[in-house]
Amino acid sequence: MKKRLKPFVEPEFPSVKPEVKQELIASLEATRQKWRDFFEKITWTSFGGIGGEDTSLTGSKHLLEAIRETGEAVRLLLDFGMFQGKGKERNQILPVKPSTIDHVLETHAHLDHFGLLPLLTKDEEGFTWEIHCTPVTWESGLIGLKDSAKIGEDGYDEDYRKYAKLIRDAQGAIRIVRNADSKGIPKNKRNGDRMKGTGELDPSLGEGKDGVKIKNRIHGGKAIHDLPESKIQQSRQLLSELGFYDLETSSFINGASIKKNIPAPKKNLYDLKDVNKVEYFVQTHKYDEKFELEPGIEATFYNAGHIAGSAMVVLKFKVDDQSTYNVMFSGDLGRLRGDFHPYGKPRLPPEVPIDAFVHETTYGGKVHWEREFAIDDLGRVIREAYMKRKKALIIPTFAIERCASLLHALIELKKQEYFDGEIILDSPLGIQQTMVAGRHAEDEAFSENLMNKHAYRVAKGEDREGLERSKKFRIIVTGSGMANGGPILDYLKLYSNNPDIEFAFAGYQSEGTIGNELTSGYKSITIDGLKLHVEAKVNNLMGFSAHADERDLFEIMEYGSRSRRHGERHRNAKLLLVHGERDKSTTAYVNYLKRRVREGKRGVPKMENVFLPNLEETLVLYSAAGKEVEKKEE
Ligand SMILES: [Zn+2]
Repeated sequence: MKKRLKPFVEPEFPSVKPEVKQELIASLEATRQKWRDFFEKITWTSFGGIGGEDTSLTGSKHLLEAIRETGEAVRLLLDFGMFQGKGKERNQILPVKPSTIDHVLETHAHLDHFGLLPLLTKDEEGFTWEIHCTPVTWESGLIGLKDSAKIGEDGYDEDYRKYAKLIRDAQGAIRIVRNADSKGIPKNKRNGDRMKGTGELDPSLGEGKDGVKIKNRIHGGKAIHDLPESKIQQSRQLLSELGFYDLETSSFINGASIKKNIPAPKKNLYDLKDVNKVEYFVQTHKYDEKFELEPGIEATFYNAGHIAGSAMVVLKFKVDDQSTYNVMFSGDLGRLRGDFHPYGKPRLPPEVPIDAFVHETTYGGKVHWEREFAIDDLGRVIREAYMKRKKALIIPTFAIERCASLLHALIELKKQEYFDGEIILDSPLGIQQTMVAGRHAEDEAFSENLMNKHAYRVAKGEDREGLERSKKFRIIVTGSGMANGGPILDYLKLYSNNPDIEFAFAGYQSEGTIGNELTSGYKSITIDGLKLHVEAKVNNLMGFSAHADERDLFEIMEYGSRSRRHGERHRNAKLLLVHGERDKSTTAYVNYLKRRVREGKRGVPKMENVFLPNLEETLVLYSAAGKEVEKKEE
C-alpha cells in the first residue's frame, strides 16, 4: 500500500523564544507545503482510445503522471476501458501495474471507457486507492460490468459461437468420413483402434459455454450413405485442416481429439466475483463538486451530456503559490445543438482556464442531423412500414442510452399516431440501462416516457416467433446494435427472408459486422454458419448519435466567449486529440481547426500545440524547467 505523508506535527523547540518559535514554525510549514504540494512535471500517456493501426478507437485508457518537486509521482488513470473488436487481444495485458496507480477517474459507463476496472482491483496486490466517478456512472457501469462478466461483451461470446460451430462441423465430418472409409471393409479391420477418442463426443462439450447447445446432429437430415462423393471429400478436407486426418494415407491421425485439436477460446477477462470487488474502491461525486485527490490536486466532474452520468473531468495541479496547471479530459462529449438534450448539454464553468485539453474526435469531419430530424426520419420509416401492412419493424440497438432514446422517440411517434401497435423491448440489459436513463434524465418528458409501464412492454419468450401471424403491428427494440451478438441474430435467422418484416439499424455500423453488411445492401448473410437470404427491407436510421459533432467539439474547446477572456493562456494551451480514427475523423478535425484559424476565428490553440498522441507515447504537458526557459525569454 502506498504511504500517505504523515500529518504535520508542530515541533516543540523548548529552548527557543515564543516569537522566534512562531516564525520557525511558519517557515517550516511553508517549506513543507511547497515541498509537498507543488508539481514540476505533468505527462500524458495513452494506452488506448486513440484509433490508429494497432487498435480500434475503443479501449480508452490514459495515464496522467504528475511529479512533485520531491520527485514523488502521483499517477492518475483516466478511464480504463475495454478494447472491443480490433485490438481486443490487448485486453489480456495490463499496460500499467495496478499497485502503482493512485487514483482512477472514470468519465462514463460505456464499456470502452469503463469495462476493464475489475482487472485493476481483482488481485490482492493490486490497486489500493480510489476510483472516482459520478453516482449515475457507477450505477450504470456496474450493470454493464456484471453483464460483461457473464456474456463477454469483449467478443468472446462471438468466439464461442464460432467454436461451437466448428465442433459441430468436425463431428459431422468425422461421422461421414468414418462411414465412407469403412464401406465394404469388415468391421474388425476398420481401424477401430485408431478411431478411439476421435469420433466420440467429448462429454464436456455437451453443453457449451454461454448456453451454446452442441447437438449430435445427423448431417443435413440425410442418411450418411446417401451423401455425394464431393461432400465426403469436403469432410476429409476439413478434418485434414483440423489435423484429424491424413489425406495421403486416407486414415485418421493417431491421438487426435476434438478437445486437443480445437482449443476452446479463452474465458472472459473477469467474473462476477471480480466485479463485486470494484465497488469497494468507488467514490462518487456529483457534477460541479470540487474534490481533492491528493494535496495539490483538485478534480471536478462536469456534465458531458453524452449518456446518463457522463462527465468531463477538470484537474488542477498546483504548480506554485499562485497558480495551477489545468487539464481537461473530455471523455465522450454529447451534443450541443438542437432542442433535445435528455441528459443536459455539455457544460464547463467559465472561470476555469484550461492549459491542456484532451479531446475526443469521434465525429471530426461530420455534421449530425439534429435529433428532431432523426425522430422525423424514424417516423417516416415506421409510417411506411405500417401503411404497407408490414407485420413488424425490428430495431437492434445498444443497451446504454441508444435504447432509451429510441424508446422515447417511438413512444412520442405513437402518441402522434404515426402507427398503432405494440412497442416491445427484447433486451434484458437494455431494460436495466433504460431504467437508469429514465431515473436520471434531465428532460422530464423523456423520463416520463421511459418510466411509463404502459407505454411499452418487455418481451416474453414467445414474442420472437410467429411474427408473420401477428394481427397487431409490432416494433421490437433489441440488442445488439450492430448485430454482432444478442437476440437480433435470432430475429435475423427467423425473418431475414420474410418480406413482411422490416429491420432498422440505428447509426454507424462498423466494418465486419452483420449490421454493416445489411445496411450496405447485402442480399445474403451468414449467421452461425447458416446462409440467409435477405428479403426483408433493411433501413438505416441516422442522427441518433449521442456524440458531439465537429461543430460541437469546436465550441466546447473554444469555450465560446470565455476563451477570449483567457486570451493568451488559451492560445498557448495544448490540445491532444484522442478517440478518433486517426486517418479519418482526427485528421478531418485538425483540418477543420486550420480552416477556422484561416477564417480568423480566435480561441483556437496554436497549431504547433496540437498533438495526436500515439499508443504508449509519453507527452510532456507541463514542465517547470520549460516554464523557466519561457520566462527568461520574455
Ligand atoms: Zn461513450
